[in-house]
Amino acid sequence: MVNEKSLKSDVLIIGCGIAGASAALEAAKSGLRVVVITKNPKPEESNTYYAQGGIVSLGKDDRPEFLKEDIIKTGDNINNPEAVELLVNEGKELVEKILIKELDIPFTRSSPDSLDYAQEAGHSRRRILHVKDTTGKTIEEKFIEALKKFSNVTLLADHSAVDLLTVPHHSKNPIAYYREPQCIGAYVLDNKTKKVKTFSAPYTILATGGCGAVFLYTSNPRDAIGAGYAMALRAGARIVNMEYIQFHPTSLFHRDADGFLISETVRGEGARLKTKEGRTFMENYSEKGDLAPRDEVTRAIYEEMVNSNSSYVLLDLASYAKFDIKKRFPNIYQTCLQYGIDITKEPIPVVPAAHYCCGGVLVDSWGKSSVRGLYSVGEVSCTGVHGANRLASTSLLEGLVWGTRASRQIASHFDPSTPYKPSDIHPWYYPEKEEGIDPALINQDWLTIRSTMWNYAGIIRTKKRLERAKADLEYLRHRIEKFYKEATMDPKVAGLKHGIQVALMITHAAISNPESRGAHFIKE
Ligand SMILES: Cc1cc2nc3c(=O)[nH]c(=O)nc-3n(C[C@H](O)[C@H](O)[C@H](O)COP(=O)(O)OP(=O)(O)OC[C@H]3O[C@@H](n4cnc5c(N)ncnc54)[C@H](O)[C@@H]3O)c2cc1C
Repeated sequence: MVNEKSLKSDVLIIGCGIAGASAALEAAKSGLRVVVITKNPKPEESNTYYAQGGIVSLGKDDRPEFLKEDIIKTGDNINNPEAVELLVNEGKELVEKILIKELDIPFTRSSPDSLDYAQEAGHSRRRILHVKDTTGKTIEEKFIEALKKFSNVTLLADHSAVDLLTVPHHSKNPIAYYREPQCIGAYVLDNKTKKVKTFSAPYTILATGGCGAVFLYTSNPRDAIGAGYAMALRAGARIVNMEYIQFHPTSLFHRDADGFLISETVRGEGARLKTKEGRTFMENYSEKGDLAPRDEVTRAIYEEMVNSNSSYVLLDLASYAKFDIKKRFPNIYQTCLQYGIDITKEPIPVVPAAHYCCGGVLVDSWGKSSVRGLYSVGEVSCTGVHGANRLASTSLLEGLVWGTRASRQIASHFDPSTPYKPSDIHPWYYPEKEEGIDPALINQDWLTIRSTMWNYAGIIRTKKRLERAKADLEYLRHRIEKFYKEATMDPKVAGLKHGIQVALMITHAAISNPESRGAHFIKE
């Protein structure tokens, strides 16, 4: 078990979505002492929990080469071929071994002895395993249940990593400067006591998920602010491809709905996009009209919104459906009704939403980053699988594969020695006179970050918009840094510091890449 005083473990895992949980399960099975931290009081809260569609496997008439081809086509040919091969060759086996046999995930069946393989956009075959439309929730709950059974796993919810512990950066020992930089754990804030502790471990696995919530509209939970990218940047890790932010065309526009996704199958079943005045518009943008690919639809909606200074467009299913809407889309029907919208009678207000970050901490086939001792898995990492755009339902599988592989490698090469003692590490610095936190300032700073990213570094970028975003965000960063140094330590303050850095990372990456490709679209 973890020694509570020194908070030492063999492996520290930051994040407990599918990637962190897969890593934790594998490390636990190898007998390593594992600490898993997650910032939300509910350990299951994560992007993983909200995944609806499913997890890619191989369908009945399928082959790894077919899946590889689809992934690379969607990724606009800048995927890492070795990483894609690894995913398509090892993915199915791990789904069967871990999800089906060990965790007993009740994937939906088309008959008692046959799994149901669903079809999704960009896939040439039916190959998506799903648990109705709550796949992520079921997977996440089963993982947490399994992890709780291991006595060598300590799962700490309501604990936020604020910085990675790196030497020589955080070392008191001047000799440290002559050695290779290394990550040896993290500074972790206990959200309840507001105290920062040092969690040390010879191996740290970053599994903090994506950063959709640095944009005004997102399908991600509001917690998904990309802390891992910011911490890895400060630790000196290589980070790539941050300009490739994938947007989903249709999320529900409602003050309280917070990014609820309206599946693309709604348009597949005949629904049409309209302006607020009731004019259809997709025919002006694509020969395929409302059935154009996701990125084209997203850009068309955005153009219409900007040109008419409107905050949303309408998705009209009621006027076109020739089937029982309540039966075909029970979840969407019920959720919209909860917000006062009867989709059998009226159009749905929708807005595109930041959905997935294809870039991240550059890692190898085992999840190893460029910093010694630091692994990164899941959405926060960049294995190269997704290239410039992600193929639907491949990210859960990527988290499972790389999470498992990272811990396999750590277990097989395990070396508990680090050239640093916990006493070498600087304790957390608290300012002598801490300033209280004014929530109005924090809320306004977030609003500035989110609307700047949405308007200037979002779906359609221009050089001018990006330069403006950079200038505004850099100014704000100075203010936030000052505030961070003086304020009482709190997850909200730490989150703001991570958020501004992530926003700048995306903006800088977008400025440095003048070529439109995949999810990065830059207009002359
Ligand atoms: C609405 C929606 C639907 C989706 N549908 C699908 C789908 O059908 N199929 C598919 O393959 N993908 C889907 N995706 C994408 C997929 O869900 C994610 O890419 C994937 O779940 C990411 O897993 P992860 O483990 O990397 O991160 P997450 O699941 O986001 O987990 C991140 C973890 O890190 C923790 N964390 C973050 N910061 C800190 C910190 N500072 N300190 C401590 N803990 C921290 C979080 O609390 C959480 O536990 C969907 C995404 C969304 C939002």
